[in-house]
Amino acid sequence: MPTRRSALTLMASAASLALTLTACGQSGEGGSKERPGDAKGGTIGIAMPTKSSERWIDDGDNVVKDLRAKGYRTRLVYGEDDPDTQVSQIENLITQGVEGLIVAAIDNKSLNNVLQEAADANIPVIAYDRLILGTKNVDYYASFDNEKVGRLQGTYIVHRLGLDSGRKGPFDIELFAGSNDDNNTRYFFDGAMSVLKPYLDKKQLVVRSGQRELNKVTTLRWDGATAQKRMDDILTSSYRSQKVDAVLSPYDGISIGILSSLKSDGYGSGSKPLPVVTGQDAELASVKSIIAGQQTQTVYKDTRKLADVAATMVDDVLKGRKPQVNDTTSYDNGTRVVPAYLLQPVSVDKANYRQVLVDGGYYTASQLK
Ligand code: BGC
Repeated sequence: MPTRRSALTLMASAASLALTLTACGQSGEGGSKERPGDAKGGTIGIAMPTKSSERWIDDGDNVVKDLRAKGYRTRLVYGEDDPDTQVSQIENLITQGVEGLIVAAIDNKSLNNVLQEAADANIPVIAYDRLILGTKNVDYYASFDNEKVGRLQGTYIVHRLGLDSGRKGPFDIELFAGSNDDNNTRYFFDGAMSVLKPYLDKKQLVVRSGQRELNKVTTLRWDGATAQKRMDDILTSSYRSQKVDAVLSPYDGISIGILSSLKSDGYGSGSKPLPVVTGQDAELASVKSIIAGQQTQTVYKDTRKLADVAATMVDDVLKGRKPQVNDTTSYDNGTRVVPAYLLQPVSVDKANYRQVLVDGGYYTASQLK
């Protein structure tokens, strides 16, 4: 039985022929020019979910940069949040003869067939940030400690409301979660609820809308406008004479939608201050909003580090080395526990954004003006 590496070597000439034939074909953002015989490695396909959020644009660019530095060519595609588009993009990458795949799934359960095609062609697959479920054909997982992301959001709310320093409340809180087809959603929500639940149980925190279960609070495709509409409905139905004190938001794009809704309802003035609003990704608009005193917090995840982990994983697999992992228990995808490398998220607010984001080189001070 040929090893993955020798099978890949056998495939190399067919792959480079396919790549030459299709070099002018599919959207090759980030793909380098074809220079047959020039690159040390083969071509890696990178499938990202959407360009509608900055973080994925940065992720894509960073993965391309890291792979090029390792001698690979790259093909970077964005699925624009449509699962079928992503499936056909990955099919194209396989047909084009990529040697490895790095995939941030749109719908975590829609990739089983196409990943079987990848396995049949002996192409290793790295799940990027979002675990792919229900298939054995995912080799490694590169992400952050997703449960901790949620705990940081929950802890921030508890702290800002003073519940951890003796204030009794009760405070009114509303809960938002991410897309129900993203495996991370449950981890973020469970992490946050592990911190909030004791206060909910003691009625120091009250969800006036009554929408407390994950299946009641998800936001399809993490869409800010969908969240804004839900917040509008909640304010109308449950906060006519009350004021919401905190909103658990899992992602900056959702936070911006929630804040628009709150501001249309008169929040943000002296007598009606904005509630504590969390977030995730430290996107530029949200960091500016934090500096302006609107969004309260975000969770920063250094996508430069994530890209490096994923690029190193695929390089290791292709070179027959065992990638470094630091978690072999948490991420069961329903078929196997996928070995993972999890990076650490960091809570960011007005007090530490300069130190974390500017001194850390993620943004320049002038970008945040
Ligand atoms: C990522 C988050 C991101 C969200 C929406 C999740 O899978 O882990 O960082 O905020 O998708 O794009």
